[in-house]
Amino acid sequence: MPVRDESHPNQRLTTVDDLISSNLLDDADRVSLKQVVSKYAISVPTHLARLIDSADPDDPIARQIIPHVEESITTPDENADPIGDFTHSPVKGLVHRYPDRVLLKAHSACAVYCRFCFRREMVGPGGDTMSDTDLEAGFTYIAAHPEIWEVILTGGDPLVLSPDRLDKIFERLNAIEHVKVIRIHTRVPVAEPGRITDELIIALGKRRATVYVAVHCNHANELSEEARQACDRFTTSGIPLLGQTVLLKGVNDDIKTLDVLFRKMVTARITPYYLHHPDLAPGTGHFRVSLEDGQSLIKQLRGTLSGIALPTYMLDIPGGHGKVPVGPTYADIRVNGTTVVEDVNGKTHVYPPSQPDSEA
Ligand SMILES: *Cc1c(COP(=O)(O)O)cnc(C)c1O
Ligand code: SF4
Repeated sequence: MPVRDESHPNQRLTTVDDLISSNLLDDADRVSLKQVVSKYAISVPTHLARLIDSADPDDPIARQIIPHVEESITTPDENADPIGDFTHSPVKGLVHRYPDRVLLKAHSACAVYCRFCFRREMVGPGGDTMSDTDLEAGFTYIAAHPEIWEVILTGGDPLVLSPDRLDKIFERLNAIEHVKVIRIHTRVPVAEPGRITDELIIALGKRRATVYVAVHCNHANELSEEARQACDRFTTSGIPLLGQTVLLKGVNDDIKTLDVLFRKMVTARITPYYLHHPDLAPGTGHFRVSLEDGQSLIKQLRGTLSGIALPTYMLDIPGGHGKVPVGPTYADIRVNGTTVVEDVNGKTHVYPPSQPDSEA
């Protein structure tokens, strides 16, 4: 277990030595991980480290955040910019792919570095954080585009910024009248719940635009008591929570794990929003699930899981073509105007029915 002082909620393990002394890596891994850790930063918040069972070689949190030698394997279909952020970036740090909303990558650092991160070539402590000048250029762009209804703060992780800096960003965005919604994509509520302070909540909620927070969470073990309390701070102050989950082999690619996760999210008042098919980021092949397997999981969940707990299965099409739902389809439209729909048990029915509940 971690040896560091737990009275500092924001303490992080950031080196191979830290992980070895916390029993999260073996001394023997030092050599094999040299290449991986020289490329991709490590950050394991002590809060998450405490949730890892170091006796379990398949611990689902460890698998997501402890570096692994398989990260040095890059397959030909992998790409440093798997979802084409660069092709839609009119201003540094801003991505405008859909007419009504932009991403603002205000900060490139994260509380935790996920080993499957889709932006792993861009995020990191030495990453390209937007300077004040870049941010100004971003605000100017947003102000000049009245079709921008929503600004999505992402990164990196925007909730790693100080409440004071966030307050300034919110002040500028709120001054742009056509920005009605500000959405924050973050892993902080589960990674470092101690950062969700009253000061932060006040900074987020005090102005005109409606604020949504999308919490990235991939396994029920991440929803600790402290994480739930952090979530409560948002919801009790009127900030709705959405859930974002990445489908990851060896972490959550089975029915039981997803079922428990999505139910736990709902009871924490997080509405599961998207289940992301993993992106083709370099060195992430060991996390990849096939689309077929993903569809099969969603299909099984549809029959057994409450609708409010079931997210939409999404693929971000490589090359910057955007996100689309890739879940199973149930309706097969026929040329003669009738449709054949499949129920959750795989039985087919004609719609509209020629006689009550006719089977196809
Ligand atoms: C994912 C993404 C969004 C947000 O998409 P939603 O479907 O609204 O969640 C917006 N812009 C870009 C560039 C994105 O990649
Ligand atoms: S928190 Fe998000 S941006 Fe940061 S490493 Fe994890 S997946 Fe990537």
